[in-house]
Amino acid sequence: MNFHILTLFPEMVMQGLNTSIIGRAMAAGVLSIDAVNIRDYAFNKHQSVDDYPYGGGAGMLMQAEPVYQAYTAVADSIQKRKGDSRFRTIYLSPQGKTFTQEMAEEYAKEEELLLLCGHYEGIDERVLEEIVTDYVSIGDFVVTGGELPAMIMVDAIARLVPGVLHNDVSAEFESFQDHLLEYPQYSRPEEWHGKKVPEVLLSGHHANIEKWRRNQSLLRTAKNRPDLLEQAQLSTEEKKYLKLHTGYDKI
Ligand code: SAM
Repeated sequence: MNFHILTLFPEMVMQGLNTSIIGRAMAAGVLSIDAVNIRDYAFNKHQSVDDYPYGGGAGMLMQAEPVYQAYTAVADSIQKRKGDSRFRTIYLSPQGKTFTQEMAEEYAKEEELLLLCGHYEGIDERVLEEIVTDYVSIGDFVVTGGELPAMIMVDAIARLVPGVLHNDVSAEFESFQDHLLEYPQYSRPEEWHGKKVPEVLLSGHHANIEKWRRNQSLLRTAKNRPDLLEQAQLSTEEKKYLKLHTGYDKI
């Protein structure tokens, strides 16, 4: 999978992503991340890419043309390489749809993905209208630029690309799978600060361990994110268990 990130701060994005699991996947050629500096497409000698917004107001706005030229350069290179330049262009924006694990799974099926990072007060609306296919937010708060949101998205999507995580790890249960949170986990030693690892995890009895984990997931989700349970597929027995232990009965 190939990520293309349009940004004013390519070093920030690459330094953040070129480490650990994602960095290793890049080195192994499982995925590529190309940070394109929008400033390289500035059309004045000062290389400025922002200007005052029409109508007044605080802050500066990224101009349409450098963003468009940077986008076109990526589109042309994809066209040359694949003979087809259809790809999704995501604008990171607090006004977008809130990013979820389900969206990460959907995006992980793409071969090419372009992420556009705004800065200052954002980007001239006209270029967004021309190139953006998806508006995505990482939450109901405002950060100074799209770089950190883009890094979060790339990380969440890339780890779902086959070959990035070891297969056995990726197949395991994780939070948000089945609309549940993950169960608690423990490692050595068996006792720490007087707290013991739950007995069942030491038993080697796989069926009991699975049942315990599933029940812990139910309890944890009911406690921390009861909203998720509305979409979870639970057996009658599990619904009874939840009602008995948490009083939760909205399903
Ligand atoms: N004036 C814009 C507004 O009110 O919608 C906010 C601009 S913000 C200071 C600058 C840039 O940061 C945005 O263009 C966007 O790329 C990014 N950004 C800020 N908050 C974000 C969020 N919650 N999710 C994704 N991107 C965000």
